[in-house]
Amino acid sequence: MEKCGVCSENLSEGAHCATCEQWFHYQCAGVTKSGYQRLSKDKKLNWRCVKCKPSETAHPPNSPRPDSESDLTGTEAVLTEIRALSAKFAPLEGLKEEVLALKKEFLDFKSSMNTQFLRRRQ
Ligand SMILES: [Zn+2]
Ligand SMILES: [Zn+2]
Repeated sequence: MEKCGVCSENLSEGAHCATCEQWFHYQCAGVTKSGYQRLSKDKKLNWRCVKCKPSETAHPPNSPRPDSESDLTGTEAVLTEIRALSAKFAPLEGLKEEVLALKKEFLDFKSSMNTQFLRRRQ
């Protein structure tokens, strides 16, 4: 006769945990008899008790944050514009240098923005 892994009472039928290999009364395992029996054969074979079941409430720490990337979309567009300008004025040496200086300034600005974002996220 099997014993329940929770209350140690004898049991004639119940849910079997695939990980700790113990048997549980349906109510001790937190499942209803009909709920457990409705599971497919495969799912019953892989059923795990509450102790062995991976927690479903824990979220991975690196879950995606949809707002973190979009913050730089605007600056990315400006950078593209500067690149286009730089190509357009390439034949005019003086202007080209001016644009390149502007570009460098902008890149510095962008990296300082990045630093700010990183600080804010911590
Ligand atoms: Zn029990
Ligand atoms: Zn278990």
